[in-house]
Amino acid sequence: MNTPDVIVVGGGIGGLSAAFALTRKGLTVRVLERSAEFGEVGAGLQLAPNCTRILNEYGLLDEAKSLGVVPTSMVMRDAVDASELTKLDLTDLERRYGFPYLVIHRSDLHGLFLRACERAGVELVTDAKAVSYENSDTGAQVRLSSGEVHEAGVVIAADGLHSVARKLLIDDEPVSSAYVAYRGTVPVADLADRPVDLSEVVVYVGPGHHFVHYGLRGGEMLNQVAVFESPKAIAGEEDWGTPDELDAAFADSCSEVREGIPFMWRDKWWRMYDRDPIMTWVSGRIALLGDAAHPPLQYMAQGAIMAIEDGWVLAEHVARLRSADGVIDWDAALAAYEAVRPEHCRRVLTTARVWGELWHLDGEERQQRNLLLRARGTQDYTYTDWIYGPTALVPEDEPPLYPIVPLASAAELVVNG
Ligand SMILES: Cc1cc2nc3c(=O)[nH]c(=O)nc-3n(C[C@H](O)[C@H](O)[C@H](O)COP(=O)(O)OP(=O)(O)OC[C@H]3O[C@@H](n4cnc5c(N)ncnc54)[C@H](O)[C@@H]3O)c2cc1C
Repeated sequence: MNTPDVIVVGGGIGGLSAAFALTRKGLTVRVLERSAEFGEVGAGLQLAPNCTRILNEYGLLDEAKSLGVVPTSMVMRDAVDASELTKLDLTDLERRYGFPYLVIHRSDLHGLFLRACERAGVELVTDAKAVSYENSDTGAQVRLSSGEVHEAGVVIAADGLHSVARKLLIDDEPVSSAYVAYRGTVPVADLADRPVDLSEVVVYVGPGHHFVHYGLRGGEMLNQVAVFESPKAIAGEEDWGTPDELDAAFADSCSEVREGIPFMWRDKWWRMYDRDPIMTWVSGRIALLGDAAHPPLQYMAQGAIMAIEDGWVLAEHVARLRSADGVIDWDAALAAYEAVRPEHCRRVLTTARVWGELWHLDGEERQQRNLLLRARGTQDYTYTDWIYGPTALVPEDEPPLYPIVPLASAAELVVNG
C-alpha cells in the first residue's frame, strides 16, 4: 500500500473539508470512513461569513449558494408571545464581513465537499473503522477493526463527538446538557395554510426550549429545529427526550411555534452533548480536528464551521512550512495549528453554553434578557465581530472577545426609559 502524506480519519464535514484543503495545497490524502458510504444525517446548517469566506477561497461558494438559501435577516423572537427581540440585517452583515450568511442542507454541504475531494484526487476509503492510533518513526499509524494498518506522515482524527483518538490526549466524556433536538425538513408546498417568510432565519427563545426555522434548497423546503430541556433527563431516567416530552415542552408556546411541532420528525432525536474545551489537540503526528477536538452545543451554529476553519488553518500552515523540495516541517505546522485553534474554539464552546442559558431563561431573567435584546441596534456588530471576521492564522490575529453585559443592567434601561 502506498503511503500518503496525510490520513484523515472520519469523512464528515470536518474530515472531508480538511482533506480537500490539504489536497489543494499539493498533498496526497487518504480519508478513512467507518460507514459503508460517505453521507450525512440531519437537516439544515447555518454558515456564517467566517465559513463562506473559506468556501469562496475554495471556489465552492457559488455552488453552495445555488444549493442553499441566502436569507436577508435573522430574527430572534420570544417563544411565548412571538414578539421580536432583536434582528440581524444579513444584507448589511454581508457588506460588513464581505461574505454572505448562508443556510444549506447538511447533506448538500457534505456532498459539495465529497465531490470536491473526488475532483482533487483524495483517496476515499469506506468500511474503515479506526480502533487505535500510534506514532511511528516516520509519522503515525492507524489500525482498523479489520486489523489493517494505515500509515502516513500525519494522521488527522476527525472522528466526531465520540472520537477514539481523543483518548490519546485526555480521558474525558461527553457532557450532557439534558437538552434534546428534534429536526424536520418539510416541502414548502405542504405548508399551504401556514405561510412562512423564507427570507428570514427565525429563532424563537423560550423557558427551557427554543425553535428555529429557515428555508433550504432555494426555498423549496423549510428546515425546523425544536430543542427543549428533558424533565426525564434531569430525573436521571435512561429513556429521555421522547416525543411526549416534545409535545409537553411546546404546549404553551406561541401559535407560530406550536403550528410547527407536528412537522417535526418523531422517529429520531438528537440528545445535546458537548465536551469541556481542551487546549492540547496534538500528540506527536496525530492531531484532532472538528467535533473530535471541540464538540459544541449548537447555540452558536459554529460546529461545522469550526471544523472547516480547522482544515483551512492547518493547510495554510502546511503550505507555508513546505520547502521547495516538498518536505513539510510537520512539527512546526502542527504547533502553529495548535497555537491558534484551541483558544478560538474554547471561546465558541463556552459562549455556546452561556448563549443557550440566555435563550432558555424564565421569569424575571427572561424579562431582563428581552429588554437588553430589544435595546440592541440592528447594525450593532459588537457581538459578531469576534466570530464572523476572517479566521485567525496566528494567535495575535484572534479578535478581542465581546463585552459581558450583566442581566441586571436591564434595570438601567427601565430607569432611562
Ligand atoms: C441540532 C444541531 C444543529 C447544528 N447546527 C449547526 C449549524 O447551524 N452550523 C454549524 O456550523 N454547525 C452546526 N451543528 C454542529 C455540526 O453539525 C457539527 O459540529 C459538525 O457536523 C461536526 O463535523 P465533524 O466532521 O467534526 O464530525 P461528524 O459529523 O461527527 O463526523 C465524524 C465522521 O467520522 C466517522 N467516524 C467516527 N468514528 C470513526 C472511526 N472510529 N473510524 C472511522 N470513521 C469514524 C463518522 O462516521 C463520521 O462520518 C449542529 C449540530 C446539531 C446537533
